Amino acid sequence: MRCRRCGQKAVLKMPRHNTAVCGGCLDRFVQKQIKIAVKDHRMFSPTDRILVAVSGGKDSLALWDALIRMGYRTSGLHIHQGIGQGIGDYSSVSYRKTRAFADSRGAELIVHSLEENDGAGVLELADITKRSPCSACGVMKRYHFNRIAHEYGFDVVATGHNLDDEAARLMGNLLHWQEAYLMKQSPALPKTHERLVKKVKPLYRLTEREISAYAVTRGIDYMIEECPMSAGSKQLVYKEALNRLEADAPGTKMYFYLGFLDRQRPELLAGEDAKLGDCERCGQPTSLPVCSYCRLVERINVAHETL
Ligand code: SF4
Ligand SMILES: [Zn+2]
Ligand SMILES: [Zn+2]
Repeated sequence: MRCRRCGQKAVLKMPRHNTAVCGGCLDRFVQKQIKIAVKDHRMFSPTDRILVAVSGGKDSLALWDALIRMGYRTSGLHIHQGIGQGIGDYSSVSYRKTRAFADSRGAELIVHSLEENDGAGVLELADITKRSPCSACGVMKRYHFNRIAHEYGFDVVATGHNLDDEAARLMGNLLHWQEAYLMKQSPALPKTHERLVKKVKPLYRLTEREISAYAVTRGIDYMIEECPMSAGSKQLVYKEALNRLEADAPGTKMYFYLGFLDRQRPELLAGEDAKLGDCERCGQPTSLPVCSYCRLVERINVAHETL
């Protein structure tokens, strides 16, 4: 198989664009899609300080790699979730891969350990609160991404969500008519509170396959295993369904998600967070008197006191 652009050996077939590309052309394609995303959604400028949320997986490391190469001012933030125990567990390996990547690029990496700083890792937290690990994990990650970005003076938080993630999320939101979530599903969420940092998803135009191929051709040593907690999640079911549709009609995911964005009304996005106030305990933005994070931490403290 040859690259349709330059004739060299192709590394990836891209049915949705009816083409195949070599490593060099894939690299240019990935950077171009990121540039379009950044421009279309006014994500950040070359002078902005970007905090990249890095799990150690292919998407977040590929995003960080591309942004560094494109000349942006970035630092990484890794949340150590405390999933598994010992040196070979999921969280420790994810951390080591992230650390090795940052060191190899001479990039700053901020690490926040849930066990050390919040008193419990994701699994213990799920146990204490009787919630799913992903729900507890989501609250912790969202809170610390924002808090740390604000405290360190970053202009924006960038995450590695790709087209497959966003299309699957859209499918879930539509199937359950989650109107509030639909309004807020966007590649860029604005700053609507003094302590709320803007959030962006520069990879939303790229599929999982394209990002994996980019990571491999760039020689990025990423965490191949998925988080063990993701097994059986609805998100994976939606991804599988979309992959079947995509195999039958290449480009389906792209038309589905990008078509949704074209029809979305920007004023709804900006309006949704307008009612945010300050958490009575920690001062971070929240729509309730006490934020979800502080309520979780309270549960940890109560559980530890009653032991
Ligand atoms: S799968 Fe669940 S527990 Fe694992 S990182 Fe994702 S949200 Fe967190
Ligand atoms: Zn080529
Ligand atoms: Zn709080």
